[in-house]
Formats: sequence, C-alpha cells, structure tokens
Amino acid sequence: MRTLTVELPGGAYEIRIGDGLLAELGAMLLPFHGEETPVVVVTDENVWSHYRAPLAASLAAAGIAFVPAVCPPGETNKSMDGLERLYDVFAKAGLPRGGLVVAFGGGVVGDLAGFAAATWMRGVQLVQVPTTLLAQVDSSVGGKTAVNHAHGKNLIGAFYQPKLVVVDPETLRTLPAREVRGGMAEVIKYGAIRSKSLFDTLDGDMKPAALAEIIEACCRIKSEIVVRDERDFGERMLLNFGHTFGHAIERRHGFGHYTHGEAVAFGMVVAARLGERLALTQPGAADALRRLLARHRLAPDYPEPPVVLAPAMASDKKSGGRGVRLVLLRRIGEAFTQEMRFDDIEAALALLGAAPQVFSQ
Ligand code: ADP
Ligand code: ZN
Repeated sequence: MRTLTVELPGGAYEIRIGDGLLAELGAMLLPFHGEETPVVVVTDENVWSHYRAPLAASLAAAGIAFVPAVCPPGETNKSMDGLERLYDVFAKAGLPRGGLVVAFGGGVVGDLAGFAAATWMRGVQLVQVPTTLLAQVDSSVGGKTAVNHAHGKNLIGAFYQPKLVVVDPETLRTLPAREVRGGMAEVIKYGAIRSKSLFDTLDGDMKPAALAEIIEACCRIKSEIVVRDERDFGERMLLNFGHTFGHAIERRHGFGHYTHGEAVAFGMVVAARLGERLALTQPGAADALRRLLARHRLAPDYPEPPVVLAPAMASDKKSGGRGVRLVLLRRIGEAFTQEMRFDDIEAALALLGAAPQVFSQ
C-alpha cells in the first residue's frame, strides 16, 4: 500500500493507494465509525452492480452496518434533486452529527456525496473511495464538492476535505475504456505541468501494475499544490491546464458529446500550440503532448480551427471580465499562468489555423 499525507491547516488526512484495498476498507473506516450509528455509503447503480458484494463483505468483516444510497448514474444526478434524495436517505438512516458518509464511485458520486456530507448537520465525516481514474487522480483529492444548478455547473458547493481517501486501482478493471482514456488525459496533464519523469513514464512501456504508482504520482502532485493553495486563488490554477479551452469545447458541443477528458486532451494541445506560437513554450512541446495523447488512444487534435472556441471562452461565467488567466507550458514538466485578454487570445488562436495531421501510433 502507498500512503500520502495531505497536511492542511484544517487537519491532515491520508490517501491510501493499493490493488485490492477495497477488501480492507471496512477496517480502515473503524477509526471514523461510531459504534451505534450506521454508515451511509453513497454510490451509483453501475458501481453498485459491480461492487456491492465485495463492499458489503469488507464492511461486514469489520462489523460495520451500513445503509446504501444508490443514485442513478450520470452528471444529471449531481443536482438539487439528487441532493434532496440523499438527505432523505440520511434522515431515514438517522445519520447523526459526527456520522460517516462514504462516497463510493466516480466524480459525480464524490461531488454529490461530498457536498451532502459537508452540509448535513453542518458537516459529517466523509471518506472518499473513488472508482474512476478521473476521480482517483483528480476529483477525490483536494476537497472540492458541488452540485450543478440550472445557472451553471458546480455552482453550489463547498471546500470540504475528507477524513481519508482509499484508492483501489483494481476497481478500474470494470470501467468502460472511454472513461479510462478520459482519466489518462488528466494523468498526462500532471506530467505536462509538473513532472517530466511522469510524462516519460507514460511514454514508456507501462505495465498494468504501474497504475498504482502513476496514480500515486498524480495524487502527490495534486496534494502538494492543494496544500499550498487550498482555496484555489493561485497555484491550484495550474491544474486547469487545458481546461479553459476544454470547457469551451464542452460548452460548444453540449456537455456529454466529448467526455471531460477528451475535451481536456484537445484543450491541452491548443494551449501548447498557442504557447509555442507566442514563443512562451519550448518548441516541440505541443508535438510531444500530441504524441503521448495519441499513444494513450486520445485524439489530440480538435477537429475545427481553434479560433472557433473564442466565443465559448468569452461566455464562460467563471471568467467574468475581458480576459482569463491562461495556463501555459514553459516546457514539458513546467507550467505557468498568464493573464490574457480575450481579444488577444482570439487573435493568437486565429494564427494557429486548422489542426495538423493526426499522429497514428
Ligand atoms: P467521472 O469520475 O469521470 O467524473 P462518473 O462519476 O460520472 O464520472 O462515472 C463515469 C461512469 O462510470 C458512470 O456511468 C459510473 O456509473 C461508471 N463507473 C464508475 N466507476 C466504475 C467502475 N469502477 N466500474 C464500472 N463503471 C464505473
Ligand atoms: Zn479536469
């Protein structure tokens, strides 16, 4: 088992990573579990159909009674209605102050269960057990929780750190291939912004057993950044590499057309090409990124000329003003932020033209 400690002012917690850890989850929950009260396990129908038996066995072995809250899968459940239904389960289960919620699923479950845990009785204990690659390397670490609102994604949320994060990479065996690829986009992102050696590892002959090591490397980078900037005012912004363009792509095509990871993959290449064009990024970085993405079966090149993304960027509610703080690469393994006006971004995007030839690997 690999263990990382996230040291935040509000308290420290561990991220534990290892194949087969699900079997030990029950024992790991014991320190957070009050004898008399049930644990509520929030999950979705897909995860439940695959892992109901091993999860129940793991908790039973530790003598922990639990109430499952099984949500429909998908982003639409990350809603005020979905939240309301969870609170109903909490109420019926008699989840008390000091009680424990386990978020067992992908990013949707983590966000929804996390926000419910943050708000129920002004906050109960939360343990994250992420089951998608995206959630294992990204959303389960760092304490962001939220639900969507008619006015926008993740509009209602809280920073709420878990007591523990338990990552079992074996749960990824049942994850649809497209979801795994999407998660790999975020893994590649960590290499691009912070670790040339991770980037090179991903470019080597990866063995399946290497996954735990790779997840650990990503969680380490994310937690280091989060510790220095928990509330996302500075350095944490580097984690948005590829996301300003990625979100524009998601908005332009409607959420769900491309997965988040697919859109981020395109966005990273656009950002790298833009940086090269502005002579801020070492030449060749964009091609290195494109090659690595293609190697992990992600399409690297957005099919339209990137300048079409300008209107969707400017309409991003988060950006507010006349520009954004864009994350660019200095070189592979190093990123920085640069304030840019939308006009200037649009002009630079126009210079990029259509996508170059797609690599085939
Ligand atoms: P993400 O973590 O990418 O934000 P979701 O929480 O929406 O996304 O999960 C993506 C999809 O994968 C959902 O349909 C979810 O039910 C399913 N899923 C999550 N974890 C697993 C798993 N380990 N095996 C199979 N399907 C899973
Ligand atoms: Zn992302």
